[in-house]
Amino acid sequence: IGAMTGKVAIITGASSGIGKATAIKLAQAGVKIGLVDLKEENAEKTKQVIENIGGEAVITDTDVSDPKRVEDSINQVVQAFGGLDYVFANAGINGKVTSIEEMTPEEWDQTLTTNLKSTFLTTKYAIPHMKKNGGSIVITSSINGNREFKNIGMSAYSSSKAGQMAFGKMAALELSNYGIRVNIICPGAINTNIGKNTFKEKGELKKVQIPVKYPEGNQPLEHKPGEPEQVADLVHFLMSDAASHITGTEVYIDGGQTLL
Ligand code: NAD
Repeated sequence: IGAMTGKVAIITGASSGIGKATAIKLAQAGVKIGLVDLKEENAEKTKQVIENIGGEAVITDTDVSDPKRVEDSINQVVQAFGGLDYVFANAGINGKVTSIEEMTPEEWDQTLTTNLKSTFLTTKYAIPHMKKNGGSIVITSSINGNREFKNIGMSAYSSSKAGQMAFGKMAALELSNYGIRVNIICPGAINTNIGKNTFKEKGELKKVQIPVKYPEGNQPLEHKPGEPEQVADLVHFLMSDAASHITGTEVYIDGGQTLL
């Protein structure tokens, strides 16, 4: 992977899990990082790690489903670092895990807005800053929504993740005009905080069996969920010039989970 020194990246969902690991990985490669998350105090920890290894980061406290705040936050990062080369549209939630019959329209909207509309917003407001010099955008989708449809109760989540795939491919075609590459990653089960952030209410799912927790050992390669750092290695590659001929593609990173 070639040098990335002095480049600028925006990473959403940078306080935790895959976003945090990727922020640290890119900072190690010399990239200046805009850390975007709801949880500013946690992004502070990511920033500390980056500064301890001699990197640079700024935090913007943003809800990625809010158009104005996304636009402002991207502008803040560009103002701080003087440009924008990479975008990791990664923030996401499992949302309410419940049957279609019991899911409220508001719960559906929350998951779709946080995961899918946010991807559109993050891409849209990055374009003006990237169209002159080109760059790379990576979107975090999931095996749920593309290859695996086993988690009953996650219809909204899976729909949002399928939508991100379609959006990423359309964006790759459209933004090729500007030399901007767009690729989609589809992780399997990864060891992050997303499960803890899932909305669960006791007794709500009597009628439906919901495997909220992924069973251990259903990854043939390592017999365990992946680590966020393993996903960060993939994002690092897709951002870099080593992937200069790759756009509009999806990469599954699941330890073989979807082979079963
Ligand atoms: P995580 O919960 O550890 O991190 C997600 C981060 O996104 C959190 O810091 C959270 O505060 C932030 N976030 C949530 N809603 C936000 C909002 N409205 N505005 C700004 N920030 C917001 O989870 P993770 O597993 O690292 O998730 C990252 C991405 O990976 C998500 O899109 C998720 O769907 C996807 N993914 C995760 C797995 C897995 O098993 N962990 C598998 C496939 C895909």
